[in-house]
Amino acid sequence: MAQVTEKSTRRTFLKRVGAVGAGSIVAAAAPFVNAKDDAGTKAGHMDRMPKRPFGKTGVDVPILGLGGVLKMSDQLVFRMAYKMGVTYWDTADSYGWGKNEKAIGKYFKKFPEDRKSIFLVTKAATSDTEELTEKLHASFQKMNTSYVDLYFIHYVSDVKDELTPGVKAWAEKAKSQGKIRFFGFSAHKNMEASMLAAAKLGWIDGIMMSYNYRLMVKDEMKRAVEACVKAGIGLTAMKTQAAFTANFYASIGSETDDALNMTENFMKKGYTAEQAKLKVVWENPDIASICSAMPNMTILQANVAAATNREELSGHEKALLDRYAAQTCSGYCAGCADICESALDYRVPISDLLRCSMYHFGYGDREKALELLDTLPPQTRASCMETDFSPAEHRCPQNIAIGRIVKTAIDALT
Ligand code: SF4
Repeated sequence: MAQVTEKSTRRTFLKRVGAVGAGSIVAAAAPFVNAKDDAGTKAGHMDRMPKRPFGKTGVDVPILGLGGVLKMSDQLVFRMAYKMGVTYWDTADSYGWGKNEKAIGKYFKKFPEDRKSIFLVTKAATSDTEELTEKLHASFQKMNTSYVDLYFIHYVSDVKDELTPGVKAWAEKAKSQGKIRFFGFSAHKNMEASMLAAAKLGWIDGIMMSYNYRLMVKDEMKRAVEACVKAGIGLTAMKTQAAFTANFYASIGSETDDALNMTENFMKKGYTAEQAKLKVVWENPDIASICSAMPNMTILQANVAAATNREELSGHEKALLDRYAAQTCSGYCAGCADICESALDYRVPISDLLRCSMYHFGYGDREKALELLDTLPPQTRASCMETDFSPAEHRCPQNIAIGRIVKTAIDALT
C-alpha cells in the first residue's frame, strides 16, 4: 500500500478541489451559501447584493457582473442571476460570434420588464463612427432593446489613436439620442497607459480592464486606478482569476506548497481560492464591479456567495495570494504589451496571442480563443512560426516562455 503522507493527502485534496470546481465545494462546505434561501425567496440575493457607484454616472451597480459566455440554452442562469441581484450584464457583439447578445435578446423577449433593472453593457471593436452606429443598431436588434447603458470600444490599447475627437462626437450624439447612457472602453493590454490617458480626456464614463491579485499590487496600476477615480471614471475589473497563459503552467501552479497552504487556509473559512481572488479585488472600494464569466449555476452561486459575504481576507491570506502570484508569475501575462512587442518592432501581437493561449488552455474555451485569433492580422499565424521570440523574452518582466507558448497555441488552434 502506498504511504499516505501529509503532503500527498493535501495534494490529493487540492486535486479534488480543482476537479469538482469552486461551486461544488462551496455548496458542501461554505457557511455563507444557502441555496434554498436563494431559490426559495422571490428576490433571492437581490436585496443582499452590494452595490457601488459607477464613477460619476450617478448609477449604482452590483459588485458582481455577469460576463458574456451564456448561450441561448442558458436562460435559467440569466434568470437566477437576475434574481440574485447580478443585474450588471456584460457582452460584446463578437462574443460567441453574436450568440451571447442573441441569448440576452431571448431573455428580454420573455422578461421585458427586467430590461430596466439590468445595467446592460456591450462593445464593438472599432473606432470608425459609421461602423459604431451599424454595430450598435445590430446589437439592439439581437438583444431586443432600444438602448444600452454602457457602450464600450473593445480592446483599446492606444487611447490617442482609438478615442479620437470623432468618437467623442459620436458618443455625445448617441447619448443625446438615448441610444447609450454612458461610454467607455475595455482594455486587455497596456491597461495602465490607457487608463492614465483616458483620465485626461474628461469624457470617458467607464473602463473595464484586466485587474486581479497579480496586477492590483503594481504601482503603475495603483496610479492608473487613482487617476481614473479622480476623473470620475467607473471601473470594472475583469480577468480576476488571472488564469495561466498555457496548460503547462497549470501543474506548476497547483502543485506549489503555497497553493496548497492558500487553498487549505481559505477552505477553513469556508471559501475557495477562486472566491478569495474575487474578494481581494472587492477590497479595493475604487473598483465598482467585477465582470465574471459564470457559465453555469454552480459558479454563479459560488460567486454570489463571495459577493454577499462581508468577511474580509486576513493579512496572512493576502500574503499567501502575493506569494502564490510571485511563484507562478511566469505563467501569467500581465498585458504590458509595449515591453515585449517593441522588442520585435511590433511585428507580432504577442499579448493578444498569449491571451488566445489563455482562453484555450487556461479557460478551456477554444471558441473564445479562435474568436480573438480571428481579429488579428491574417499573416499572424504564419509569421509567428518563423519568429525568434528571444529578444521579447529577454525583456518580459514575468519571464514568460513567449515563443514556446505562442507556437504551441497557434499549433493547437490551427
Ligand atoms: S509577454 Fe511579458 S512583456 Fe509581454 S505583455 Fe506579457 S508579461 Fe508583458
